[in-house]
Amino acid sequence: MSSTLWHERAAALKIDGRAFIGGQRVWSKSEQRFDNLSPVDGRNLGQVARCDGADVDLAVAAARVAFEDRRWAGKSPAQRKRVLIKFADLVQQHGPELALLETLDMGKPIKYSQSVDVGATANCLRWYGEAIDKVYDEIAPTADSSLALITREAVGVVAAIVPWNYPMIMAAWKIAPALAAGNSVVLKPSEKSPLTALRLAELALEAGIPAGVFNVLPGYGHEAGAALALHMDVDCIGFTGSTKIGKQIMQMAGQSNLKRAWTELGGKSANIVCADCPDLDAAVASAIGSIYFNQGESCNAPSRLFVEASIRDRFIEKALAMVPDFQPGDPLDEATVMGAIVDATQLKTVLGYIDAGKADGAKLLAGGAQARTASGGFYVEPTLFDQVDSSMKIAREEIFGPVLSVLSFTDIHDAVRQANATPYGLQAAVWTANMSKAIQTARALRAGTVHVNQYDGDDITVPFGGYKQSGNGRDKSLHAFDKYTELKTTWIQIG
Ligand code: NAD
Repeated sequence: MSSTLWHERAAALKIDGRAFIGGQRVWSKSEQRFDNLSPVDGRNLGQVARCDGADVDLAVAAARVAFEDRRWAGKSPAQRKRVLIKFADLVQQHGPELALLETLDMGKPIKYSQSVDVGATANCLRWYGEAIDKVYDEIAPTADSSLALITREAVGVVAAIVPWNYPMIMAAWKIAPALAAGNSVVLKPSEKSPLTALRLAELALEAGIPAGVFNVLPGYGHEAGAALALHMDVDCIGFTGSTKIGKQIMQMAGQSNLKRAWTELGGKSANIVCADCPDLDAAVASAIGSIYFNQGESCNAPSRLFVEASIRDRFIEKALAMVPDFQPGDPLDEATVMGAIVDATQLKTVLGYIDAGKADGAKLLAGGAQARTASGGFYVEPTLFDQVDSSMKIAREEIFGPVLSVLSFTDIHDAVRQANATPYGLQAAVWTANMSKAIQTARALRAGTVHVNQYDGDDITVPFGGYKQSGNGRDKSLHAFDKYTELKTTWIQIG
Protein backbone atom coordinates (compact mmCIF):
# COMPACT_ATOMS: atom_id res chain seq x y z
CA MET A 1 0.00 0.00 0.00
CA SER A 2 1.31 3.48 -0.80
CA SER A 3 2.28 5.88 1.97
CA THR A 4 -0.47 8.26 0.74
CA LEU A 5 -3.07 5.56 1.34
CA TRP A 6 -1.65 4.81 4.80
CA HIS A 7 -1.75 8.53 5.62
CA GLU A 8 -5.39 8.72 4.42
CA ARG A 9 -6.27 5.75 6.61
CA ALA A 10 -4.45 7.33 9.53
CA ALA A 11 -6.38 10.60 9.11
CA ALA A 12 -9.70 8.70 8.98
CA LEU A 13 -8.93 6.51 12.02
CA LYS A 14 -11.31 6.91 14.96
CA ILE A 15 -9.35 6.46 18.19
CA ASP A 16 -11.20 5.09 21.21
CA GLY A 17 -9.03 5.72 24.28
CA ARG A 18 -11.49 4.43 26.88
CA ALA A 19 -10.47 1.65 29.24
CA PHE A 20 -11.86 -1.89 28.91
CA ILE A 21 -13.33 -3.18 32.18
CA GLY A 22 -15.75 -6.08 32.58
CA GLY A 23 -16.35 -6.24 28.83
CA GLN A 24 -17.25 -2.52 28.55
CA ARG A 25 -15.46 0.53 27.17
CA VAL A 26 -15.43 3.13 29.96
CA TRP A 27 -13.69 6.36 30.86
CA SER A 28 -11.83 6.42 34.16
CA LYS A 29 -13.91 7.02 37.32
CA SER A 30 -12.12 10.36 37.79
CA GLU A 31 -12.91 11.33 34.15
CA GLN A 32 -9.22 12.28 33.82
CA ARG A 33 -7.72 11.85 30.34
CA PHE A 34 -4.41 12.46 28.62
CA ASP A 35 -3.49 13.37 25.05
CA ASN A 36 -1.92 10.64 22.96
CA LEU A 37 0.72 12.27 20.74
CA SER A 38 2.05 10.37 17.73
CA PRO A 39 5.84 10.26 17.38
CA VAL A 40 5.35 10.05 13.59
CA ASP A 41 4.44 13.76 13.31
CA GLY A 42 3.66 14.95 16.84
CA ARG A 43 -0.10 15.09 16.14
CA ASN A 44 -2.61 14.37 18.91
CA LEU A 45 -4.23 11.05 18.03
CA GLY A 46 -6.94 11.47 20.66
CA GLN A 47 -7.63 11.29 24.35
CA VAL A 48 -6.97 8.26 26.50
CA ALA A 49 -8.47 7.36 29.89
CA ARG A 50 -6.08 8.15 32.75
CA CYS A 51 -6.90 5.22 35.01
CA ASP A 52 -5.88 5.21 38.65
CA GLY A 53 -6.45 3.21 41.83
CA ALA A 54 -10.25 3.45 41.63
CA ASP A 55 -10.27 1.93 38.14
CA VAL A 56 -7.77 -0.71 39.23
CA ASP A 57 -10.19 -1.69 42.02
CA LEU A 58 -13.00 -2.05 39.47
CA ALA A 59 -10.94 -4.04 36.97
CA VAL A 60 -9.47 -6.36 39.63
CA ALA A 61 -12.96 -6.93 41.07
CA ALA A 62 -14.30 -7.78 37.59
CA ALA A 63 -11.37 -10.14 37.03
CA ARG A 64 -11.87 -11.75 40.46
CA VAL A 65 -15.59 -12.38 39.90
CA ALA A 66 -14.86 -13.84 36.46
CA PHE A 67 -12.21 -16.11 37.97
CA GLU A 68 -14.29 -17.28 40.92
CA ASP A 69 -17.42 -18.09 38.88
CA ARG A 70 -15.25 -20.23 36.59
CA ARG A 71 -16.68 -18.68 33.40
CA TRP A 72 -13.22 -19.08 31.83
CA ALA A 73 -11.08 -21.09 34.25
CA GLY A 74 -13.82 -23.74 34.34
CA LYS A 75 -13.76 -24.34 30.61
CA SER A 76 -11.82 -27.33 29.37
CA PRO A 77 -8.39 -26.64 27.88
CA ALA A 78 -9.81 -27.68 24.49
CA GLN A 79 -12.53 -25.02 24.79
CA ARG A 80 -10.04 -22.32 25.77
CA LYS A 81 -7.87 -23.42 22.90
CA ARG A 82 -10.67 -22.86 20.37
CA VAL A 83 -11.31 -19.34 21.69
CA LEU A 84 -7.62 -18.36 21.68
CA ILE A 85 -7.22 -19.60 18.13
CA LYS A 86 -10.24 -17.51 17.10
CA PHE A 87 -8.64 -14.55 18.92
CA ALA A 88 -5.45 -15.13 16.90
CA ASP A 89 -7.46 -15.28 13.66
CA LEU A 90 -9.17 -11.98 14.50
CA VAL A 91 -5.79 -10.34 15.16
CA GLN A 92 -4.65 -11.51 11.75
CA GLN A 93 -7.88 -10.31 10.07
CA HIS A 94 -7.54 -6.88 11.69
CA GLY A 95 -3.81 -6.83 10.91
CA PRO A 96 -3.72 -3.62 8.82
CA GLU A 97 -5.71 -1.67 11.43
CA LEU A 98 -3.60 -2.97 14.35
CA ALA A 99 -0.38 -2.29 12.42
CA LEU A 100 -1.48 1.26 11.71
CA LEU A 101 -2.38 1.87 15.37
CA GLU A 102 1.00 0.47 16.47
CA THR A 103 2.96 2.64 14.04
CA LEU A 104 1.03 5.82 14.85
CA ASP A 105 1.32 5.15 18.57
CA MET A 106 5.02 4.35 18.89
CA GLY A 107 6.67 5.23 15.57
CA LYS A 108 7.96 1.92 14.20
CA PRO A 109 7.86 1.43 10.39
CA ILE A 110 4.54 0.11 9.08
CA LYS A 111 6.49 -2.55 7.19
CA TYR A 112 7.46 -4.14 10.52
CA SER A 113 4.21 -3.47 12.41
CA GLN A 114 2.53 -5.57 9.75
CA SER A 115 5.09 -8.30 9.18
CA VAL A 116 6.58 -8.64 12.66
CA ASP A 117 4.25 -7.26 15.35
CA VAL A 118 0.88 -8.42 14.03
CA GLY A 119 2.29 -11.77 12.93
CA ALA A 120 4.10 -12.46 16.21
CA THR A 121 1.06 -11.45 18.29
CA ALA A 122 -1.28 -13.76 16.38
CA ASN A 123 1.29 -16.55 16.44
CA CYS A 124 1.76 -16.23 20.20
CA LEU A 125 -1.98 -16.40 20.91
CA ARG A 126 -2.38 -19.37 18.57
CA TRP A 127 0.64 -21.22 19.97
CA TYR A 128 -0.46 -21.01 23.62
CA GLY A 129 -4.00 -21.93 22.55
CA GLU A 130 -2.62 -24.97 20.72
CA ALA A 131 -0.34 -25.88 23.64
CA ILE A 132 -2.77 -25.77 26.54
CA ASP A 133 -4.57 -29.05 25.83
CA LYS A 134 -1.26 -30.87 25.50
CA VAL A 135 0.03 -30.12 28.99
CA TYR A 136 -0.68 -33.10 31.22
CA ASP A 137 -0.74 -33.31 35.00
CA GLU A 138 1.47 -35.84 36.80
CA ILE A 139 1.25 -38.67 39.30
CA ALA A 140 4.15 -38.86 41.74
CA PRO A 141 5.97 -42.21 42.22
CA THR A 142 4.79 -42.73 45.81
CA ALA A 143 4.07 -45.93 47.78
CA ASP A 144 1.31 -48.34 46.65
CA SER A 145 -0.99 -47.29 49.49
CA SER A 146 -1.51 -43.77 48.22
CA LEU A 147 -1.73 -41.68 45.13
CA ALA A 148 -0.18 -38.22 44.90
CA LEU A 149 -1.49 -36.09 42.03
CA ILE A 150 0.53 -33.07 40.91
CA THR A 151 -1.81 -30.72 39.12
CA ARG A 152 -1.44 -27.24 37.67
CA GLU A 153 -4.01 -24.62 38.53
CA ALA A 154 -4.44 -21.06 37.35
CA VAL A 155 -2.97 -18.54 39.82
CA GLY A 156 -6.11 -16.37 39.72
CA VAL A 157 -5.97 -12.67 38.88
CA VAL A 158 -2.86 -11.79 36.88
CA ALA A 159 -1.73 -8.18 36.37
CA ALA A 160 0.41 -7.53 33.31
CA ILE A 161 2.36 -4.28 32.94
CA VAL A 162 4.13 -3.78 29.63
CA PRO A 163 6.38 -1.22 27.89
CA TRP A 164 5.96 0.72 24.65
CA ASN A 165 8.63 -0.72 22.36
CA TYR A 166 6.65 -3.77 21.15
CA PRO A 167 3.26 -2.97 22.68
CA MET A 168 1.26 -5.84 21.14
CA ILE A 169 3.94 -8.50 21.30
CA MET A 170 4.84 -7.73 24.93
CA ALA A 171 1.15 -7.89 25.83
CA ALA A 172 0.72 -11.18 23.95
CA TRP A 173 3.73 -12.79 25.69
CA LYS A 174 1.92 -12.22 29.01
CA ILE A 175 -1.76 -12.60 28.20
CA ALA A 176 -1.52 -15.65 25.92
CA PRO A 177 -0.04 -18.09 28.48
CA ALA A 178 -1.98 -16.47 31.37
CA LEU A 179 -5.34 -16.75 29.59
CA ALA A 180 -4.59 -20.19 28.16
CA ALA A 181 -3.94 -21.42 31.71
CA GLY A 182 -7.36 -20.11 32.83
CA ASN A 183 -6.42 -16.91 34.67
CA SER A 184 -8.22 -13.58 34.54
CA VAL A 185 -5.99 -10.71 33.43
CA VAL A 186 -5.72 -6.96 33.98
CA LEU A 187 -3.31 -5.48 31.44
CA LYS A 188 -1.76 -2.04 31.80
CA PRO A 189 -0.10 -0.91 28.57
CA SER A 190 2.43 1.91 28.56
CA GLU A 191 0.95 5.41 28.61
CA LYS A 192 3.06 5.99 25.49
CA SER A 193 1.39 3.27 23.41
CA PRO A 194 -2.01 2.13 24.77
CA LEU A 195 -4.02 1.80 21.54
CA THR A 196 -3.40 -1.74 20.31
CA ALA A 197 -3.92 -3.26 23.78
CA LEU A 198 -7.37 -1.68 23.90
CA ARG A 199 -8.25 -3.10 20.47
CA LEU A 200 -6.94 -6.51 21.53
CA ALA A 201 -9.42 -6.50 24.43
CA GLU A 202 -12.31 -5.91 22.02
CA LEU A 203 -11.12 -8.69 19.72
CA ALA A 204 -10.75 -11.04 22.70
CA LEU A 205 -14.37 -10.44 23.67
CA GLU A 206 -15.46 -10.99 20.06
CA ALA A 207 -13.50 -14.26 20.00
CA GLY A 208 -15.43 -15.53 23.04
CA ILE A 209 -13.27 -14.66 26.05
CA PRO A 210 -15.99 -13.87 28.61
CA ALA A 211 -16.47 -10.34 29.94
CA GLY A 212 -14.28 -9.62 32.98
CA VAL A 213 -11.62 -12.18 32.06
CA PHE A 214 -9.46 -9.72 30.12
CA ASN A 215 -9.39 -6.06 31.17
CA VAL A 216 -7.19 -3.23 29.91
CA LEU A 217 -6.37 -0.10 31.91
CA PRO A 218 -4.48 2.67 30.14
CA GLY A 219 -2.75 5.10 32.48
CA TYR A 220 0.49 6.20 34.04
CA GLY A 221 2.85 3.84 35.81
CA HIS A 222 2.91 5.64 39.15
CA GLU A 223 -0.91 5.66 39.19
CA ALA A 224 -2.54 2.63 37.52
CA GLY A 225 0.69 0.59 37.45
CA ALA A 226 1.59 1.08 41.11
CA ALA A 227 -2.02 0.47 42.19
CA LEU A 228 -1.92 -2.90 40.40
CA ALA A 229 1.44 -3.86 41.89
CA LEU A 230 0.21 -2.97 45.39
CA HIS A 231 -3.27 -4.50 45.05
CA MET A 232 -4.13 -7.07 47.70
CA ASP A 233 -6.36 -9.07 45.35
CA VAL A 234 -3.89 -9.49 42.48
CA ASP A 235 -2.27 -12.92 42.73
CA CYS A 236 0.55 -12.50 40.25
CA ILE A 237 2.20 -9.67 38.36
CA GLY A 238 4.07 -10.04 35.08
CA PHE A 239 6.14 -6.93 34.42
CA THR A 240 8.19 -5.98 31.37
CA GLY A 241 10.04 -2.65 31.50
CA SER A 242 13.09 -0.94 32.90
CA THR A 243 15.28 -2.39 35.65
CA LYS A 244 14.61 0.71 37.77
CA ILE A 245 10.83 0.13 37.79
CA GLY A 246 11.26 -3.66 37.96
CA LYS A 247 12.97 -3.23 41.35
CA GLN A 248 10.02 -1.14 42.56
CA ILE A 249 7.58 -3.81 41.32
CA MET A 250 9.37 -6.46 43.40
CA GLN A 251 9.18 -4.19 46.45
CA MET A 252 5.50 -3.42 45.93
CA ALA A 253 4.70 -7.11 45.46
CA GLY A 254 6.55 -7.88 48.68
CA GLN A 255 5.07 -5.11 50.78
CA SER A 256 1.48 -5.92 49.74
CA ASN A 257 0.30 -9.53 49.53
CA LEU A 258 3.55 -11.17 48.37
CA LYS A 259 2.03 -11.70 44.94
CA ARG A 260 4.16 -13.69 42.55
CA ALA A 261 6.24 -11.11 40.65
CA TRP A 262 7.96 -11.85 37.35
CA THR A 263 10.20 -9.27 35.73
CA GLU A 264 11.61 -8.93 32.20
CA LEU A 265 13.94 -5.92 32.29
CA GLY A 266 16.62 -3.94 30.48
CA GLY A 267 19.77 -5.02 28.67
CA LYS A 268 23.16 -3.96 27.38
CA SER A 269 23.90 -6.93 25.17
CA ALA A 270 27.38 -7.83 23.94
CA ASN A 271 28.09 -9.01 20.40
CA ILE A 272 31.60 -10.53 20.13
CA VAL A 273 33.13 -10.91 16.68
CA CYS A 274 36.35 -12.92 16.64
CA ALA A 275 38.98 -12.77 13.92
CA ASP A 276 38.03 -16.32 12.86
CA CYS A 277 34.40 -15.31 12.27
CA PRO A 278 33.15 -17.63 9.49
CA ASP A 279 31.26 -14.94 7.52
CA LEU A 280 32.29 -11.35 8.09
CA ASP A 281 29.58 -9.90 5.80
CA ALA A 282 26.89 -11.78 7.75
CA ALA A 283 28.35 -10.56 11.06
CA VAL A 284 28.36 -6.94 9.85
CA ALA A 285 24.83 -7.14 8.44
CA SER A 286 23.58 -8.73 11.66
CA ALA A 287 25.34 -6.24 13.96
CA ILE A 288 24.05 -3.21 12.03
CA GLY A 289 20.57 -4.57 11.28
CA SER A 290 19.99 -5.68 14.89
CA ILE A 291 21.04 -2.42 16.56
CA TYR A 292 18.97 -0.20 14.27
CA PHE A 293 15.91 -2.47 14.12
CA ASN A 294 12.97 -0.85 15.94
CA GLN A 295 15.05 2.38 16.15
CA GLY A 296 17.31 0.65 18.66
CA GLU A 297 14.37 0.48 21.07
CA SER A 298 14.81 -3.23 21.79
CA CYS A 299 15.72 -4.68 25.18
CA ASN A 300 18.01 -7.19 23.46
CA ALA A 301 19.66 -4.73 21.04
CA PRO A 302 23.35 -5.68 20.64
CA SER A 303 24.51 -2.23 21.71
CA ARG A 304 28.08 -3.25 22.66
CA LEU A 305 29.99 -4.60 19.69
CA PHE A 306 33.38 -6.18 20.46
CA VAL A 307 35.53 -6.69 17.35
CA GLU A 308 38.94 -8.41 17.43
CA ALA A 309 41.80 -6.08 16.43
CA SER A 310 42.98 -7.86 13.26
CA ILE A 311 39.58 -7.56 11.49
CA ARG A 312 38.55 -4.29 13.04
CA ASP A 313 39.31 -1.89 10.14
CA ARG A 314 37.64 -4.14 7.58
CA PHE A 315 34.63 -4.62 9.84
CA ILE A 316 34.18 -0.89 10.43
CA GLU A 317 34.55 -0.07 6.74
CA LYS A 318 31.82 -2.59 5.84
CA ALA A 319 29.60 -1.40 8.71
CA LEU A 320 29.87 2.26 7.72
CA ALA A 321 28.83 1.35 4.17
CA MET A 322 25.58 -0.09 5.56
CA VAL A 323 24.64 2.63 8.04
CA PRO A 324 23.04 5.03 5.48
CA ASP A 325 20.49 2.29 4.59
CA PHE A 326 18.97 2.92 8.03
CA GLN A 327 18.40 6.66 7.69
CA PRO A 328 15.01 7.25 9.34
CA GLY A 329 12.06 7.84 7.04
CA ASP A 330 8.29 8.27 7.14
CA PRO A 331 7.04 5.30 9.23
CA LEU A 332 3.94 5.11 7.00
CA ASP A 333 6.06 4.50 3.90
CA GLU A 334 6.51 0.75 3.37
CA ALA A 335 10.10 1.30 2.18
CA THR A 336 11.15 2.79 5.52
CA VAL A 337 13.24 0.53 7.76
CA MET A 338 13.85 2.93 10.65
CA GLY A 339 11.04 5.05 12.07
CA ALA A 340 10.48 7.53 14.88
CA ILE A 341 11.68 7.50 18.49
CA VAL A 342 8.66 7.03 20.77
CA ASP A 343 8.43 10.55 22.21
CA ALA A 344 10.21 13.83 22.95
CA THR A 345 11.49 12.53 26.31
CA GLN A 346 13.11 9.46 24.79
CA LEU A 347 14.53 11.59 21.96
CA LYS A 348 16.17 13.84 24.56
CA THR A 349 17.53 10.79 26.42
CA VAL A 350 19.09 9.33 23.26
CA LEU A 351 20.62 12.67 22.20
CA GLY A 352 21.95 13.07 25.77
CA TYR A 353 23.76 9.72 25.49
CA ILE A 354 25.24 10.78 22.14
CA ASP A 355 26.57 13.94 23.80
CA ALA A 356 27.99 11.82 26.65
CA GLY A 357 29.76 9.56 24.12
CA LYS A 358 31.39 12.58 22.49
CA ALA A 359 32.32 14.12 25.86
CA ASP A 360 33.88 10.84 27.08
CA GLY A 361 36.15 10.72 24.03
CA ALA A 362 34.48 8.05 21.87
CA LYS A 363 35.01 8.61 18.13
CA LEU A 364 31.77 9.44 16.29
CA LEU A 365 31.93 7.75 12.88
CA ALA A 366 28.29 8.07 11.77
CA GLY A 367 25.11 9.93 12.71
CA GLY A 368 25.01 11.66 16.05
CA ALA A 369 22.13 14.06 15.48
CA GLN A 370 18.38 14.47 15.30
CA ALA A 371 16.91 13.70 11.83
CA ARG A 372 13.82 14.68 9.80
CA THR A 373 13.38 17.72 12.01
CA ALA A 374 10.81 19.28 9.62
CA SER A 375 8.44 16.29 9.91
CA GLY A 376 7.23 17.27 13.39
CA GLY A 377 8.07 13.82 14.77
CA PHE A 378 11.04 12.50 16.75
CA TYR A 379 13.86 10.97 14.72
CA VAL A 380 17.54 10.18 15.34
CA GLU A 381 20.22 9.33 12.79
CA PRO A 382 21.69 5.82 12.96
CA THR A 383 24.75 6.47 15.09
CA LEU A 384 28.04 4.60 15.39
CA PHE A 385 30.80 5.30 17.91
CA ASP A 386 34.24 3.72 17.62
CA GLN A 387 37.01 3.56 20.24
CA VAL A 388 34.51 3.11 23.04
CA ASP A 389 35.88 2.05 26.39
CA SER A 390 33.96 -0.19 28.83
CA SER A 391 34.10 2.58 31.44
CA MET A 392 32.22 5.10 29.25
CA LYS A 393 28.58 5.88 29.99
CA ILE A 394 27.45 4.78 26.50
CA ALA A 395 29.01 1.35 27.14
CA ARG A 396 27.53 0.95 30.61
CA GLU A 397 23.95 2.19 30.40
CA GLU A 398 21.01 1.09 28.28
CA ILE A 399 20.43 3.83 25.68
CA PHE A 400 17.34 2.39 23.97
CA GLY A 401 18.05 4.22 20.74
CA PRO A 402 19.92 3.70 17.43
CA VAL A 403 23.42 4.04 18.90
CA LEU A 404 26.12 1.39 18.42
CA SER A 405 29.33 1.37 20.47
CA VAL A 406 32.36 -0.47 19.06
CA LEU A 407 34.81 -1.76 21.68
CA SER A 408 37.94 -3.83 21.38
CA PHE A 409 39.34 -6.93 23.11
CA THR A 410 42.70 -8.64 23.34
CA ASP A 411 41.61 -12.30 23.49
CA ILE A 412 38.37 -14.22 24.02
CA HIS A 413 38.84 -14.25 27.82
CA ASP A 414 39.10 -10.46 27.79
CA ALA A 415 35.98 -10.28 25.58
CA VAL A 416 33.98 -12.48 27.97
CA ARG A 417 35.22 -10.52 30.99
CA GLN A 418 34.12 -7.22 29.44
CA ALA A 419 30.84 -8.67 28.12
CA ASN A 420 29.94 -9.89 31.62
CA ALA A 421 31.00 -6.65 33.34
CA THR A 422 27.47 -5.23 33.36
CA PRO A 423 24.51 -5.47 35.74
CA TYR A 424 22.47 -6.77 32.80
CA GLY A 425 22.35 -10.29 31.35
CA LEU A 426 19.72 -10.48 28.67
CA GLN A 427 21.43 -11.56 25.48
CA ALA A 428 24.88 -12.00 23.88
CA ALA A 429 26.50 -13.39 20.77
CA VAL A 430 29.84 -14.79 19.65
CA TRP A 431 31.01 -15.14 16.05
CA THR A 432 33.73 -17.75 15.49
CA ALA A 433 34.35 -20.75 13.25
CA ASN A 434 35.92 -22.60 16.19
CA MET A 435 33.03 -24.54 17.70
CA SER A 436 34.75 -25.47 20.91
CA LYS A 437 35.60 -21.78 21.49
CA ALA A 438 31.98 -20.91 20.61
CA ILE A 439 30.55 -23.36 23.13
CA GLN A 440 32.99 -22.42 25.88
CA THR A 441 32.20 -18.74 25.30
CA ALA A 442 28.45 -19.37 25.25
CA ARG A 443 28.81 -21.16 28.61
CA ALA A 444 30.88 -18.34 30.08
CA LEU A 445 28.53 -15.54 29.00
CA ARG A 446 26.06 -14.64 31.78
CA ALA A 447 22.97 -14.05 29.63
CA GLY A 448 19.55 -15.65 29.17
CA THR A 449 20.10 -16.09 25.44
CA VAL A 450 23.43 -16.58 23.65
CA HIS A 451 23.72 -16.69 19.88
CA VAL A 452 26.52 -18.34 17.94
CA ASN A 453 27.20 -16.93 14.46
CA GLN A 454 23.88 -15.09 14.35
CA TYR A 455 21.97 -12.58 16.43
CA ASP A 456 18.36 -12.68 15.39
CA GLY A 457 17.21 -16.24 16.12
CA ASP A 458 13.71 -15.96 17.53
CA ASP A 459 10.90 -18.43 18.03
CA ILE A 460 7.88 -18.68 20.31
CA THR A 461 9.10 -22.15 21.37
CA VAL A 462 12.20 -20.85 23.20
CA PRO A 463 12.30 -18.96 26.53
CA PHE A 464 13.20 -15.27 26.52
CA GLY A 465 14.49 -13.56 29.65
CA GLY A 466 17.49 -12.40 31.54
CA TYR A 467 20.18 -13.17 34.08
CA LYS A 468 21.14 -10.68 36.80
CA GLN A 469 19.30 -7.35 36.66
CA SER A 470 17.67 -8.17 33.33
CA GLY A 471 14.91 -9.87 35.33
CA ASN A 472 13.84 -13.11 36.95
CA GLY A 473 11.25 -14.51 34.55
CA ARG A 474 11.03 -16.17 31.16
CA ASP A 475 8.46 -15.23 28.55
CA LYS A 476 7.57 -17.51 25.61
CA SER A 477 7.84 -21.30 25.39
CA LEU A 478 6.05 -23.84 27.61
CA HIS A 479 8.10 -22.52 30.56
CA ALA A 480 5.90 -19.38 30.63
CA PHE A 481 3.08 -21.55 32.00
CA ASP A 482 5.18 -21.91 35.17
CA LYS A 483 4.69 -18.19 35.86
CA TYR A 484 0.92 -18.26 35.61
CA THR A 485 0.13 -21.57 37.31
CA GLU A 486 0.39 -23.02 40.80
CA LEU A 487 1.45 -26.61 41.39
CA LYS A 488 -0.93 -28.45 43.69
CA THR A 489 -0.24 -31.82 45.33
CA THR A 490 -3.27 -33.94 46.21
CA TRP A 491 -2.69 -37.06 48.36
CA ILE A 492 -5.28 -39.82 48.05
CA GLN A 493 -5.31 -42.85 50.37
CA ILE A 494 -6.03 -45.92 48.26
CA GLY A 495 -5.71 -48.67 50.86
P1 NAD B 1 9.31 1.57 32.18
O1 NAD B 1 9.88 0.73 33.24
O2 NAD B 1 9.43 3.03 32.29
O3 NAD B 1 7.74 1.27 32.03
C1 NAD B 1 7.25 -0.03 31.78
C2 NAD B 1 5.80 -0.10 32.25
O4 NAD B 1 5.79 0.11 33.65
C3 NAD B 1 4.90 0.98 31.65
O5 NAD B 1 3.62 0.44 31.44
C4 NAD B 1 4.87 2.03 32.74
O6 NAD B 1 3.69 2.82 32.72
C5 NAD B 1 4.90 1.16 33.98
N1 NAD B 1 5.39 1.84 35.17
C6 NAD B 1 6.21 2.91 35.24
N2 NAD B 1 6.39 3.29 36.53
C7 NAD B 1 5.68 2.42 37.29
C8 NAD B 1 5.46 2.28 38.69
N3 NAD B 1 6.01 3.11 39.56
N4 NAD B 1 4.69 1.26 39.12
C9 NAD B 1 4.13 0.39 38.25
N5 NAD B 1 4.27 0.49 36.91
C10 NAD B 1 5.05 1.49 36.43
O7 NAD B 1 9.94 1.05 30.81
P2 NAD B 1 9.64 1.58 29.34
O8 NAD B 1 10.39 2.84 29.12
O9 NAD B 1 8.18 1.53 29.05
O10 NAD B 1 10.28 0.39 28.47
C11 NAD B 1 11.63 0.31 28.19
C12 NAD B 1 12.32 -0.72 29.07
O11 NAD B 1 11.69 -1.99 28.93
C13 NAD B 1 13.76 -0.92 28.67
O12 NAD B 1 14.56 -0.96 29.81
C14 NAD B 1 13.75 -2.27 27.98
O13 NAD B 1 14.97 -2.94 27.99
C15 NAD B 1 12.68 -2.99 28.74
N6 NAD B 1 12.16 -4.13 28.00
C16 NAD B 1 12.49 -5.39 28.42
C17 NAD B 1 12.04 -6.50 27.70
C18 NAD B 1 12.39 -7.90 28.14
O14 NAD B 1 11.73 -8.83 27.70
N7 NAD B 1 13.40 -8.09 28.97
C19 NAD B 1 11.23 -6.32 26.58
C20 NAD B 1 10.91 -5.02 26.19
C21 NAD B 1 11.39 -3.93 26.91
